[in-house]
Amino acid sequence: MAYKISDECISCGACAAECPVSAISEGNGKYNIDADTCVECGACASTCPVGAPVQE
Ligand code: SF4
Ligand code: SF4
Repeated sequence: MAYKISDECISCGACAAECPVSAISEGNGKYNIDADTCVECGACASTCPVGAPVQE
């Protein structure tokens, strides 16, 4: 299942820079993952300082 970014996100943008398929974009108050694009590599979860990306 694709990853999803929780409300813990502080909009630092680190995950978007690491995503190999550019599935992450800035949203309103937090970043969002396009579930159809995500290849479930886990790079966003490894990079995030607050553990916001989680697998559904
Ligand atoms: Fe991008 Fe990988 Fe995170 Fe999916 S799991 S959003 S492909 S970095
Ligand atoms: Fe949000 Fe974490 Fe991504 Fe930063 S790395 S934008 S806190 S999900």
